Amino acid sequence: MWQDLRIGTGYDVHRLAEGHELWLGGILVPSPLGAVGHSDADVLLHVICDALFGARAMGDLGAHFPDTDPAFKGIDSKLLLARTWALVQEGGWSILNVDTTLCLERPKIRGHVDTMRASIAAILDLPVERVSVKATTTEGLGFVGEQRGVSAHAVVLLAR
Ligand code: MG
Repeated sequence: MWQDLRIGTGYDVHRLAEGHELWLGGILVPSPLGAVGHSDADVLLHVICDALFGARAMGDLGAHFPDTDPAFKGIDSKLLLARTWALVQEGGWSILNVDTTLCLERPKIRGHVDTMRASIAAILDLPVERVSVKATTTEGLGFVGEQRGVSAHAVVLLAR
């Protein structure tokens, strides 16, 4: 039996603008608007990183991979998630499950969800049924609804 369970949450926002790519869950989603950030601005992978760090009370993504460090400029967030999990699993931790919600007005991403889940599961070396990606609009309200930004939430459960 598991001796110790730890839960962590993550929340992140990136601005949307023309002339940028939209990376979500490690895949490139065709979109006229892309996410702006120091890295590839993959908001979905960033919230999973933060949830993993949070579960271990290890600070946040920005503390480990500062956006002031040129080494992380334009970096593939799949590498950030892989590095995060390498740090967080020290001491014998396993991930029981990951659940996420992406808040984006458009494009509709339902058709990309299973590819995102497979991408995340591969990085974390998890069966895909332990990785959930959900998506919602905000009914035209707020910065998400006005297509000025994309946000995401994540929860992870760790055990050892
Ligand atoms: Mg971010």
